[in-house]
Amino acid sequence: MAGVIKVAVLGAGGLGKACAAVIAKKKQMRLVAICDKEGYAYLPNGLDADAISRVKIGGTVGDLECGKQVADSIGEIVGISKEIDGIFIALPNLPNDFMFNVVKRFISADYKGCFTDALKRTTAMEMMFGLYDPLKQVKSTYITGCGATPGLLTAAAVIAAQSFIEVENVNIWWGVGIANWEEYKATIREDIAHLPGWTVDTALSMSDEKVEDFLDKTNGILELHEMEHADDLLLERIGVVDSRDKVTVGGIMDTRNAKKPVSTTMTLTGITFDGKRSSHRFILGDETGMAANVIGPALGYLKRALWLNQHEIYGIYGSTEFMPCVVR
Ligand code: NAD
Repeated sequence: MAGVIKVAVLGAGGLGKACAAVIAKKKQMRLVAICDKEGYAYLPNGLDADAISRVKIGGTVGDLECGKQVADSIGEIVGISKEIDGIFIALPNLPNDFMFNVVKRFISADYKGCFTDALKRTTAMEMMFGLYDPLKQVKSTYITGCGATPGLLTAAAVIAAQSFIEVENVNIWWGVGIANWEEYKATIREDIAHLPGWTVDTALSMSDEKVEDFLDKTNGILELHEMEHADDLLLERIGVVDSRDKVTVGGIMDTRNAKKPVSTTMTLTGITFDGKRSSHRFILGDETGMAANVIGPALGYLKRALWLNQHEIYGIYGSTEFMPCVVR
């Protein structure tokens, strides 16, 4: 792949800032644009990840020396999109069609590049797959579900499935620890939306104070079971399971402690050709935090999307359909 890949990140929250920090350590990628709700920054020669990391929660990248405060920062990135090879979408997906509508704006502007996201909800991803034809028409390539789960763990399930004639079930159980919920506001609101009695809309309508009151009552812990997670759709789509209800996702989020409350595992159980039932288990190292396990795959798949685009393969695909590349 010739040349440095020019990347834009939509969203300068927890994952957006982590993405800037990871790209700063890569030779093959350069972060040229980033935006948040209040502003954006664009520098063709590359943005300074340290300066981005110093933007405080509640501040804006529009305040950076090269930044601009604007009402429609995504519109500004759409405006410069001809200068961008690949986009990682680190926006909240609240409401459920938020990212879908953002991508449509790039399609309307005839953007001919690549995208990855760390989308989580099955219904949101189903909507995103509906953009196959429009993306193909503009010659863009999109890989969806490129975070930790779906993403890293779902891809591991595809590899694990190779030992079996029949896959009986896939169980993902994640543990995430963060020191402060405000560093990852969208992640926490979206997790609350998975709790019994909550919806995406009720979680979206919560003020920050309400989220804090809620977390006070649970001692900062969110335990989630039977989540509506697109790992099921992605594994059904390529035939690892014949029915998505064989995939279960849950986990524990500690919003007051950076240490993982439990290890993250993906366990796939199946029957071999000679009739043996067994399980493969993929365990993430406890020291690898959420940001490392989301941003690594998101960028690895972005490089894969570029490779596909250069081979004239356009449209939208899932993270279970291709291996991520390694970004050096
Ligand atoms: P965050 O709340 O920390 O950051 C979101 C950013 O988006 C903020 O900078 C905010 O200002 C910006 N934003 C919001 N509305 C905007 C708009 N209209 N225009 C421009 N910018 C806007 O979020 P986060 O915790 O970093 O999570 C980002 C996404 O990643 C979420 O959707 C979350 O669910 C997802 N996620 C996926 C995984 C996975 O493994 N698949 C794991 C963690 C998070």
